[in-house]
Amino acid sequence: MFKAILLERDDRATKAQVATLEEDRLPPGDVAIDVAYSTLNYKDGLAITGKGPVVREWPMVPGIDLCGTVTSSDHAGAKPGDQVIVNGWGLGEVRWGGLAQKARVSGDMIVKLPDAFTPQQAMGIGTAGYTAMLCVLALERHGVTPDKGDVLVTGANGGVGSFAIALLARRGYRVVASTGRVDDAETLRSLGAADVIDRATLSEPGKPLQKERWAGAVDTVGSHTLANICASARYGGAVAACGLAQGMDFPSSVAPFILRGVTLAGVDSVYAPQALRRQAWDCLAREVDASVIGAIAAEIPLSEAIPQASVLLAGKVRGRLLVNVNA
Ligand code: NDP
Repeated sequence: MFKAILLERDDRATKAQVATLEEDRLPPGDVAIDVAYSTLNYKDGLAITGKGPVVREWPMVPGIDLCGTVTSSDHAGAKPGDQVIVNGWGLGEVRWGGLAQKARVSGDMIVKLPDAFTPQQAMGIGTAGYTAMLCVLALERHGVTPDKGDVLVTGANGGVGSFAIALLARRGYRVVASTGRVDDAETLRSLGAADVIDRATLSEPGKPLQKERWAGAVDTVGSHTLANICASARYGGAVAACGLAQGMDFPSSVAPFILRGVTLAGVDSVYAPQALRRQAWDCLAREVDASVIGAIAAEIPLSEAIPQASVLLAGKVRGRLLVNVNA
């Protein structure tokens, strides 16, 4: 038996509870894992509250991240005792995820836990930090370097935004953080932001081409914000788009792309290939200090994940939440 958050659909409403389940209810997979930590991401908030169409199989155990110890394996890449991470691959959407004490996955999904991290630290980083690193790698693949100018990070107080600031600052970029919580500017500066701007300056409809400002940007909010960022990207600049906290729409024009050679780089963490995941986790292991994780992540027990889902969606969580599934 193990404890898990179980989501069931009841007359099209989502019912979330902490349930005790038989192990044989776990999905098929060649690697069984005792989960130590999971996380609560924006997508998990949507799944738990039913506010977004994240869950596509019912009943579902949410949790797009997990870190734990392999207890049995029929996969050549994992053996009992290995500590592993799984991010995405449909966890919490189409197959049971990490907000549980046990999980069963395909061995093709796992990444070895880097020696630099404990399971708790790895999940303090979780999908948010791993996605932030994918964004940084995407910007650099498209030619952004610290000497080219300022890099903007939107949704700065969120999980992805907080890590993006820390990672970019560590690589020598001058980072400008955009937030709706300008009162938290000091926290953002302590993570490495050189400047903090109010997100309202970016969130309204704007002109298709604006004064050139950003050499690069990590955008977690989409909609008019993303359109304004592209419109004010410098010649040859690049924008990594990974989120939709403001909206799914993209009310832009082709002007920045055809007149300034701006690149819009899409970033997906869920089905990113293994080689890219390993590159991202290797970089995280080298570049993220325990003090950064401590400043960004706060720990909650499994039972708190349900009430905190609404708080997260209301934009009231600063940084990110890691979940101790055994507490
Ligand atoms: P969080 O909830 O931790 O942070 C989102 C942040 O966005 C908030 O803290 C807030 O920052 C800002 N925000 C919220 N509402 C609005 C709004 N209406 N307009 C502008 N800004 C807003 O989420 P995450 O950091 O975990 O994820 C951020 C986004 O990235 C989400 O859309 C998520 O789905 C997506 N994502 C995508 C991934 C991928 O693979 N592509 C992986 C992980 C996340 P502030 O208070 O500073 O303004």
